[in-house]
Amino acid sequence: MKIIMLGAPGAGKGTQAKKIAEKYQIPHISTGDIFRANIKEGTELGKKAKTFMDQGALVPDELTVALVVDRIQKDDCENGFVLDGFPRTIPQAEVLDKTLADMGKKMDYAIDIDVLDENIVKRMGGRRACVNCGATYHIENIPTKVEGICDKCGSETILRDDDKPETVQKRLSVYHEQTQPLLDYYSRQGILKSVDGMRPMEDVFADIVQILGA
Ligand SMILES: [Zn+2]
Repeated sequence: MKIIMLGAPGAGKGTQAKKIAEKYQIPHISTGDIFRANIKEGTELGKKAKTFMDQGALVPDELTVALVVDRIQKDDCENGFVLDGFPRTIPQAEVLDKTLADMGKKMDYAIDIDVLDENIVKRMGGRRACVNCGATYHIENIPTKVEGICDKCGSETILRDDDKPETVQKRLSVYHEQTQPLLDYYSRQGILKSVDGMRPMEDVFADIVQILGA
């Protein structure tokens, strides 16, 4: 079962991808994890990626694609995988399709977790992170026992720059411009499935299981 998770940043792709990986016993592949693993193992691709990341630059498209392609050819992907955060653009999707076609394979599902922008801004704006230990909270869903104070270490919790409404809006614009066209791309292939992401995590997951089959 080869699955792509789609949806805006903050829609809950990562969480659902982890749950899918666990239930169906397939690897959860996120580009961040691949970068870290390759850098740790000191692979050629990892070394290249590290030079960009050390400069605080984005890893170029070709390199990202090469890392993902390398990853999905490993033995543990034999029965499938769930891609989280890739592809992000039509050109990346085309390279992925071509690679799979060369292996005699194709993607089975593109699952879009649909959440309105305003809900994402609200959701991310409620996140809090401890300045000391990095523990994360949410003012509504996972509140600290004492407002603004980390349960684990007693340090201050803050709204990170990444989660501030203006930053989130910018990321949403990039998403709508570059990634949303993938919905049409996979719809034309007949593998797009949309789930309503504005409900509790368990309900969203139940919908996904219904799509994938228990
Ligand atoms: Zn803490």
